[in-house]
Amino acid sequence: MIKVTKTVMPPFEEYCNEIKDLWESHWLTNMGQKHQRFQQLLGDFIGADKVELFVNGHMAIEMVLQAFGLKGEIITTPYTFASTTHAIVRNGCVPVFCDINEHDCTIDVEKIENLITPNTVAILPVHVYGNICDVNAIKNIADKYNLKVIYDAAHAFGEYIDGIPVGNYGDASCFSFHATKVFNSIEGGAVVYHDEVIGERLYELKNFGIHGVEEVCGIGANAKMNEFSSAMGICNLRYFEENLKKRKEVYKIYVNHLMGIKGINICELKKSVTYNYSYFPIFVNENEFGASRDEIQLKLFENDIGSRKYFYPITSEFDCYKENYDSSLTPIALRKSKEVLSLPFYADLDFSDINKICKIIKKMSRRNYF
Ligand SMILES: *Cc1c(COP(=O)(O)O)cnc(C)c1O
Repeated sequence: MIKVTKTVMPPFEEYCNEIKDLWESHWLTNMGQKHQRFQQLLGDFIGADKVELFVNGHMAIEMVLQAFGLKGEIITTPYTFASTTHAIVRNGCVPVFCDINEHDCTIDVEKIENLITPNTVAILPVHVYGNICDVNAIKNIADKYNLKVIYDAAHAFGEYIDGIPVGNYGDASCFSFHATKVFNSIEGGAVVYHDEVIGERLYELKNFGIHGVEEVCGIGANAKMNEFSSAMGICNLRYFEENLKKRKEVYKIYVNHLMGIKGINICELKKSVTYNYSYFPIFVNENEFGASRDEIQLKLFENDIGSRKYFYPITSEFDCYKENYDSSLTPIALRKSKEVLSLPFYADLDFSDINKICKIIKKMSRRNYF
């Protein structure tokens, strides 16, 4: 079976070596040595001086919204993982869905201003698939209307815009280190922020709002990263660059095979962005191609090849939200979700496997590409 992704793991001995001290210290969580070291290394690596680690990417988003004390409407996109929308709702805020761009699935900045009301407090855009949002346009809008900007940067680890680390944009950016992401700490997440006060709140909120031994000042939760996860992050960080090089090669081979096939579209890359090559979504235009997205997925499955409809359905179509939203108001997000298929993509993916995958897809076209 060719799986859709393969979790990055360091050599077994290297990890064992990293966790050895834990058997001496008996300190397994609560911001121990590994946590401190990982937070430091991470900040250096992604070029951010203010970073707070979390148990996962989702809690990072939930807690940063709470740390900013946001109450009201938050403009976001429905073309994302459940986490983004849930984090808004679980903070007692109201998601207001903006449509996405055809070419890269990030928020369409032309459509943001129309959605702003007196209740709007923030914009929560997603750097989806590692495609970076139009950060300058978003900043201009946010400045004009005095809104916070929190990026869901779960897909954007290690990326740069014009040489500037992606976490530098907005009031905060949230990263995920889940096992399926380009960089993992088994489960994990981080917030990159700029305001010291927000940092203190994040630190407290992830530990029940505890401020001092006998002082609890915030309605926090438990969202601390433990020492084993931190150790995994420390080890995996050493392999990020090497894996990135490999993923870039995998990406190129896919593109060589699939470019120019009528009805198969891929995301446009921007010259200004240094990508992490985290996913390979294709968008199937059934009329032009001659087969549907679902038919391609089934054919791949019959050949022992995994793939994911990532993202389908859009979050405004979820059972828990659909009563309150009209998805036809975000027509591009709705259509893209019906066209998308994420193909197997990871650093060690065999070139022969990529050939096989692309051959199967080409064969399904109504045109002859052989
Ligand atoms: C993975 C992901 C998250 C949540 O991260 P976890 O670490 O799994 O909690 C949030 N947003 C997006 C877009 C994601 O892909």
